[in-house]
Formats: sequence, C-alpha cells, structure tokens
Amino acid sequence: IGNLEDARAAMTKGAEGVGLLRSEFIFLGRTKAPTEDEQAQIYTDIAASLHPGQPLVIRTLDVGGDKPLPYLPIAPEENPFLGERGIRVGLDRPEILRTQSRAILRAADAGARINVMFPMIATLEDFRRAKAIFEEEREALGVAPVPVGIMVEVPSVAVMAPQFAAEVDFFSVGTNDLTQYTLAMDRGNPELAAEVDALHPAVLRLIAAAAEGGRKHALWTGVCGGLAGDLAAVPILVGLGVTELSMPGATVAEVKAMLRTLSPEACRRLAAQALLQDSPAAVRTLSNSF
Ligand code: PEP
Ligand code: MG
Repeated sequence: IGNLEDARAAMTKGAEGVGLLRSEFIFLGRTKAPTEDEQAQIYTDIAASLHPGQPLVIRTLDVGGDKPLPYLPIAPEENPFLGERGIRVGLDRPEILRTQSRAILRAADAGARINVMFPMIATLEDFRRAKAIFEEEREALGVAPVPVGIMVEVPSVAVMAPQFAAEVDFFSVGTNDLTQYTLAMDRGNPELAAEVDALHPAVLRLIAAAAEGGRKHALWTGVCGGLAGDLAAVPILVGLGVTELSMPGATVAEVKAMLRTLSPEACRRLAAQALLQDSPAAVRTLSNSF
C-alpha cells in the first residue's frame, strides 16, 4: 500500500494485515519532506485502519534509482540503480532515517502490530547501522521493541541468508528488484520487460535460500514483490517455504481462494521441479499443469 485509502481498501478485500507500506509515497509529490508529526499522523491512521493486532510492515524511505525526490538531491550517477538508493540514502543522511524512525514508533500503540523494514540492504553492515539508528530512537522514546526486518532484494542477502537470519527479525523478498539484480536486467526497460520474469529459476533459488535461512532461525519469510500476486507463482512460493504473501488489495481474494486448495506437500514437489527448469517459460508451463 502507499496510503490510508489503500489500507482501507485492502481491509475490505480480505487482507490480514499489510505486508508492505511503501513509505516513499508519503514523501513523493511534495515540495519538502513531511515532518515527523505529519508522518506520525499518517502511520497512526494507517495502523488504526487495520484490525487490532494485524501486522503492518512499514518500509523506510526507498528513493533513489527510479524514484527521485526533488527536495533530496542525489548527485548525478552513472548507474543510479547501483548507487545511492534505498537504505543507503538513510545511512548517508541519518536525520531522515531518525525522523522517520520516531514517526513510525509513535504509531506503535495505534492498533496494528508495527514491523519496520529496511530496503536495499546489501551487507550486514548496512543492516547493523540502520538498526542501530532505529534502536537509538526507540530507546530515547521509551517504546517497547518492534520487529526489525529487511527486504531481500539484492542477491548477496539471499546468498548470505543464514548470517542475516541470525540478526534480523524477518525477511521480505522484493522480487521486483531481486529479479533485476539477479538477471542484470533493468526492471523499467521496455525492451527487456518480457524477460524480466521473477519465475526465473535463478530467482527462485535465491528465494529458496532466503526461506531456508529464515526457517533455521524461526523467522518468517515473506514475498512483497509482484511475484506474490502471480497465481502461477503462489504454489511454488509456498513450496519453497515462503510463509507470508503481500500483494495489492485487488488480488488478495483470488490468491486466498487458491491457497485454500493447495496441499503443502504437493507445493514442495512442484517447487523442487521448478528449481530444475531452464527458463521462466518452462516454470510457467510446469505451474500451469499443476
Ligand atoms: C521489490 O523490489 O520487489 C519491491 C517490493 O520494492 P519496490 O518495487 O518498491 O522496489
Ligand atoms: Mg525494491
């Protein structure tokens, strides 16, 4: 979701929480950054619009790359998708991350169960630095701990899932960027669009690695990228060990209806076969005959 209306709509469509609040939508389309009070109000309203105790995963500001902000100039880069993007912006300008952390924490008692998630983590050091900032603000506010997780959208994180799993509280796989970085194909390039398919066996292997690493430390591993709402992918993701799916509200009912027909064992067999295919097209053919 990107705002309160999306949250309210998702609640009418059978969602059991929010797996991804893209907080950058609160920052886009403005001439200056939202203040801590403005952000706190928005997070509180969204948290209150969920059923009490449902999870709300708030992703910290994810700009740079394809999402520039006029009031937060980033020097021209040759490769913006490999440059100052996601959590790197917050680490480079910690005041932004500190302000947002406080605003998120101020929504902790509003109803939903707040989780915070950092985007574009590539190294353990990224996570440790971001978490240290968040925890400093939390302790200063005297708020009880909340789960702190990461997006798995850079291949290094999936490959090192066991090491990350020892320190984070959850994983949420961003298949849009994970596919882009695994295949070295720009997710926004129309010439490549047909090939940028997250059902590529290479991407599925990385999702499996993340889920496996998470399971060993009893963490939940979700998918919040576009693949979670793809009916051809749902049984494969379940079979790979994914335990949470996040998608646009409009897709929730269809995916839930499908999930109710699936047997975990059959999904595991399908997923094992999917990993052995040689292309996304072959995975889709396999899944269609499931
Ligand atoms: C992703 O990369 O899959 C993701 C969910 O984040 P975004 O699409 O906002 O980059
Ligand atoms: Mg992403």
